[in-house]
Amino acid sequence: MMSQAVEIYDTTLRDGSQGEGISFSVADKIRIAEKLDSFGVHYVEGGWPGSNPKDIEFFKQAAKRKWKNTRIAAFGSTRRKKVAVEDDAQVRLLLEAKTPVITIFGKTWLLHVKEVLHTTPRENLAMIADTVRFLKDKGKYVIYDAEHALDGYQDDPKYALATWQAAQDAGADFVVLCDTNGGRLPTEVENITTEARAKLSCNIGIHTHNDIGLGVANALAGVEAGASQVQGTINGYGERTGNCNLTSVIPSLVLKVGRKSIPKAKVKKLREVARFVDEVANQIPDRRQPWIGGTAFAHKGGMHVNAVQKVAHSFEHINPEAVGNSRRILVSDLAGRSNIVMKAQEMGIQVDNDTPQLKNILAKVKEQEHLGYDYEGAEGSLALLIRKALGRVEPAFDLEAYHVSMRGDALEHVCEATVKVKVGDQSAHTVADGDGPVNALDQALRNALRGFYPVLKKVRLTDYKVRILNSGTGTAAKTRVLIESTDGKERWYTVGVDVNIIEASLQALLDSIEYRLLKK
Ligand SMILES: [Zn+2]
Repeated sequence: MMSQAVEIYDTTLRDGSQGEGISFSVADKIRIAEKLDSFGVHYVEGGWPGSNPKDIEFFKQAAKRKWKNTRIAAFGSTRRKKVAVEDDAQVRLLLEAKTPVITIFGKTWLLHVKEVLHTTPRENLAMIADTVRFLKDKGKYVIYDAEHALDGYQDDPKYALATWQAAQDAGADFVVLCDTNGGRLPTEVENITTEARAKLSCNIGIHTHNDIGLGVANALAGVEAGASQVQGTINGYGERTGNCNLTSVIPSLVLKVGRKSIPKAKVKKLREVARFVDEVANQIPDRRQPWIGGTAFAHKGGMHVNAVQKVAHSFEHINPEAVGNSRRILVSDLAGRSNIVMKAQEMGIQVDNDTPQLKNILAKVKEQEHLGYDYEGAEGSLALLIRKALGRVEPAFDLEAYHVSMRGDALEHVCEATVKVKVGDQSAHTVADGDGPVNALDQALRNALRGFYPVLKKVRLTDYKVRILNSGTGTAAKTRVLIESTDGKERWYTVGVDVNIIEASLQALLDSIEYRLLKK
């Protein structure tokens, strides 16, 4: 039993799309299903054909495709009360979805049977059995999702078991215990799953929600007690606080518990899959997401970094590459020499622990951070600072003078910038208009320099963030400007700080241009 394989059942497209702010078009759903198929997910639940036309269209398109690893499942409910199953329109739509797998949910909890369905305990058992048997007779693989399985069992274990048994005896391939309200504890899940495992002979699955932050822990507890299928969503999308997060469950099962599930080689694609789904769902990735988030293997404290430099696993629970993530060294005022060395090496700058300028670089970083600079988000400026301290950068140009002005009336305003730059013994003097002072300055600078450095023609500003520091001092507060630039291939980030927002922006712009010119 301990080495039993665990199947992954993804419900991102159905339960996940119930999450606030999540909405998928049919094309989105197909793209995600294809991604999950190539990742090796065993089942993809595409939607509820009885609930909306979009899901019906998804199944139409899915039926025409070849799936390599995944079996597509349609989701629906048991027949309505007092209706023959073959006359139930919703059940018919499930068959018309033409999927190899059909998942139906039914009631475990007497409270729901009586107060929500307004039917008898006996009719509920018949609804479960009739629907499962009908679908089995049509040749389907049938997964029975026992809604409120854990709450229902807690309330009346005998009746709960009777509902699961009804599904099993009618031929269900899986009975899945659902913590629909998401409020159960791992010990409860383990005890009830153990009980179900002892009484049932069919496969058991586990479907948990994350209302008290235990969705993943509860799924793992279910697996420990004998469940061989885990249902969840990518990135934990779902109603309220979400579903069991497959991006945590999968590596936990494969890399920690040592279960056979998604192949290890595929788990290396985990981060890519999660980011892809975030992208399609138009969600900002959660940087602190376990396993795959941007900060999951980021080291900041100097002593930690020193230890990681010597032995990576001394402060890492696993090799980040196992899930497609990577180690990041953060440089901040907590930094030690090791942070600088590792960061510099990461950026391709030749330094080691014995480089004599190291002490000065560290002192400079700490001094700048004290002034309000932040290099964690501005690696371009940090690379320049290190190279300058090492004496390895020749200034590409000098800004001799600049002027920014703004004039306007009730209808419109215009910003204009003038710059004078010197490259070697040649000078250039340019004027440019812009949508704002920073935009005008950026245009004027690049107009002045691109005659000398044609590569700058492709460079553009893609993001601009302003943060007011020590805002208690009102207008005299310092401003930190962070800008993102791109040349169409690479992106880099630079920072500037000053009491004057234009001056702070200018510093970040100059760093951005200088950083790009380092590469030539
Ligand atoms: Zn659910």
